[in-house]
Amino acid sequence: MKNKDCNLVKDLLPNYIDKLTNSETNTFIEEHLKNCDACRKSFENMSEEMKVDYKSKENKKINIFKKVNNKIRILKTIIFIIIFIIIIIFVRKIVIINNIENKASKANYNNYSKIMIETTENYISRTEYYQNNDNFIKINTKINEEGVSKVISYKLNGKEDIKMFDNGVENQNINKTSIEKDVQYQFLNKSFWGNIGLALSFGSVNDITLYNKPCYLLNVDNYLNFIDKETGLTIKEININNNSVIDYKYTFGDISDEKIENLINNL
Ligand SMILES: [Zn+2]
Repeated sequence: MKNKDCNLVKDLLPNYIDKLTNSETNTFIEEHLKNCDACRKSFENMSEEMKVDYKSKENKKINIFKKVNNKIRILKTIIFIIIFIIIIIFVRKIVIINNIENKASKANYNNYSKIMIETTENYISRTEYYQNNDNFIKINTKINEEGVSKVISYKLNGKEDIKMFDNGVENQNINKTSIEKDVQYQFLNKSFWGNIGLALSFGSVNDITLYNKPCYLLNVDNYLNFIDKETGLTIKEININNNSVIDYKYTFGDISDEKIENLINNL
């Protein structure tokens, strides 16, 4: 009888240790353990083993938890670094834009000249512009398949005119209302939100040397803008879409009315 009970108890012990047995079974087992050395020995061994087993399982769980936690921490760090780099790049753009604006705005646009050469697949165009306050002259020469066309507009001491020549022949049907002072091309707009917008629209800003001048190369949409670091002015613009190139050259402060008058007299 005792041996049969022993077998039964041994079968029940794992569940008993895991506290899965009901109270009647518990009483039966506990009664038996009091009186049976062999089963008590088995019970003690089994409890010990299961404890160790439980501990190692717990340790595994803790290890997995630690690993997951570590991964989350690494991920957080990576995300933080990426955001940090994006902010640094963005702030750098804003600083560069401000720097360009500050320099470009210091130039004397009341007295300056600009030479602009545009090269495209279809034509080459050269524009000379000289201005002294309200007086100015603009000479545009364009060469394409059909030949050479020239447009000259000027304003000097209240007198203004515009002339157009196609292959040296003066074109009389010209719209005289289109005489306008040149608007200084300024890449920049000097408003806070405008600058944020510009910084967002830039693909990249790189340092580069062009015509021996340290420049910023701004990549905006399909345009490459080379901006002279010293003056903040665009000195070259490339349209990547159609491969057209515009070169700009500026001088400031040495345009006199006499020079404008001489240019007009030599037309
Ligand atoms: Zn027993």
